[in-house]
Amino acid sequence: MAIFEHPSFDEHESVHSFYDEKTGLKAFVAVHSTHLGPSAGGTRFWSYENSDLALRDVLRLSRGMSYKNAMAGLNLGGGKAVVMKPAGNYDRDALFSKFGEFINSIGGAYYTAEDVGMTTDDMRTIRTQTKFVAGLDEGDAASGDPSPITADGVFRCIKLAANKRGLDLNGATIAVQGLGHVGYTVCRLLHGIGSKLVVTDINKQAVQNAAEEFGAKTVAPDEIYGQMADVFSPCALGAVLNPGTIGQLKASIIAGAANNQLSVPEMGQSLQDKGILYCPDYVVNAGGIINIAGEIEGNYSPEWVEKKLQGVEKTLEQILDLAAETGRTTDTIADEMARARIGR
Ligand code: NAD
Repeated sequence: MAIFEHPSFDEHESVHSFYDEKTGLKAFVAVHSTHLGPSAGGTRFWSYENSDLALRDVLRLSRGMSYKNAMAGLNLGGGKAVVMKPAGNYDRDALFSKFGEFINSIGGAYYTAEDVGMTTDDMRTIRTQTKFVAGLDEGDAASGDPSPITADGVFRCIKLAANKRGLDLNGATIAVQGLGHVGYTVCRLLHGIGSKLVVTDINKQAVQNAAEEFGAKTVAPDEIYGQMADVFSPCALGAVLNPGTIGQLKASIIAGAANNQLSVPEMGQSLQDKGILYCPDYVVNAGGIINIAGEIEGNYSPEWVEKKLQGVEKTLEQILDLAAETGRTTDTIADEMARARIGR
């Protein structure tokens, strides 16, 4: 697909494609903006049916990172990488070692870290080839797996939105989609304050664990939208808020970790028309990149992260208050604030 005409191009500064025959590596790195600093965003390791879908994903995700990093008050631009999971057998270390070489060749305009399908072990492998990587669990300013901090941020945002709607989370029902690194921790935090959980995942073991550990009700993946819940927390993949799912929703608040939850921007208006308070994904899920930013800037400390997380809460509150005052959708307000902060 032609890059400059791509519907998700959105004035990306650079888009890189990498191929290595020996390891089977096929990857894209997209640098949306370096206006506020070097671009940063995780690497997604996923089975894509074709490279068009991978390219679309990386473009949408890197733009989201520009907005997320700006809204979290970080000195970082936005970028993202996707590595297409090879169809057959592959050597994971060799694959990510080669990927590290490619990241290095970009020369510091892009810093990578964990996203879906990646581990701190993979980050260590990438680190053997480049210093432009964070989310490590050892070494100078290592910040480790960012997902617990992402989950903490999601939890705070759910609490804030519930507060705005006069909802007591003790006894409230939260539907959580996706029980991976972030979703499972969100469940644990909610369980700790007395929320009831309805959960789903395509990973049956994770579902069983949540049922046993939190007494969660478990449902099939396509049943999660129609559950009688006060809050819906998408913590799996993107585009889950679409014409097919919004009609089913009973929850009055949406706040979750997944990136690009709205299938198209118009879905923000559809949610508002249904009286649903949508907390913009890239504001809610900034905890992980905040953690990583501390590492990139070399000043990581739990205190610094806590201050930034409080900033996220403040920003979300501004958005929700402005939406309530003006009747505009939360996502358009957030986009406007982000563009103003980026300066484009
Ligand atoms: P993860 O890979 O650990 O978990 C994702 C979970 O979603 C997996 O358990 C997977 O089985 C499940 N899943 C996939 N398809 C599903 C479906 N159709 N229905 C139900 N479950 C499904 O990833 P994660 O790190 O927990 O991230 C979750 C989401 O949050 C992703 O969209 C990610 O981009 C976003 N995010 C993560 C971080 C982070 O710090 N890890 C930061 C910001 C945003």
